[in-house]
Amino acid sequence: MTSARKPRTSSRRAPARVSARTVRPPPEQAPGVVAEPPPRPDKAPFDIDEVLPRIREQVRGFADAAMFALAARGHDSLFEQLVACILSIRTLDEVSLPVSLALLGRASTPEAMARLTPEEIDDLIRPVTFHEPKARQIHAIAVRTRDEFGGKLPCDARVLQSFKGVGPKCANLSLGIACGHEAISVDIHVHRVTNRWGYVTARTPEATLEALEAQLPRAYWVEINRLLVPFGKHVCTGARPKCSTCPVLQYCRQVGVTDPR
Ligand code: SF4
Repeated sequence: MTSARKPRTSSRRAPARVSARTVRPPPEQAPGVVAEPPPRPDKAPFDIDEVLPRIREQVRGFADAAMFALAARGHDSLFEQLVACILSIRTLDEVSLPVSLALLGRASTPEAMARLTPEEIDDLIRPVTFHEPKARQIHAIAVRTRDEFGGKLPCDARVLQSFKGVGPKCANLSLGIACGHEAISVDIHVHRVTNRWGYVTARTPEATLEALEAQLPRAYWVEINRLLVPFGKHVCTGARPKCSTCPVLQYCRQVGVTDPR
């Protein structure tokens, strides 16, 4: 099971005041930051403590994002989570999840993975995007973990990001799930949804991460990825988001949304 912290819940439904956690623009000089959108008088003040519980309820019936689903099936070590995140890069969860299960079913520890050749790993992960370089990266991580860290990856973001192919998104999500670290993982869904809310105003996922770290309560740092990946897939979709039935419509500024359903 995942060791991600559970945030507190709120029973409030309609905010009567501007929350201390109301929208705050990121620093103007931060790279990738864009101008804050104008206020919407038809919207309630944005309150993250109101919004996330509604989304938690909404996504209850949707499938978990791949790495959380793997953790729930017992593949919750840092090595397994990191391997699964590499496999998921630019690949749909529907493809990466069964591939991760097949690979980790064959080799779930660095020692076992290092005994496979990159070609054998490649054969097992062929359906995912960029499978050849990913096979080489996974093999190299396994060998270095065995030889340099005694077979156990340390819960250290600098170590994880020193591996080829591992950036902040995978490092943070793996550390959040496997090590219980408070770390935000910003993928395309987290980036799109938080910017549509007007909660952040950032051009790139990297700038969104920086803005979220400045204002998102720490209790939500791991959970925001778990919630917004299925929410972004099924409700706040890239094209034609389902705004008319969205549970947070009253708070969302719908920044950049021109053709909602
Ligand atoms: S109201 Fe529309 S744009 Fe805003 S979160 Fe909901 S679906 Fe996305």
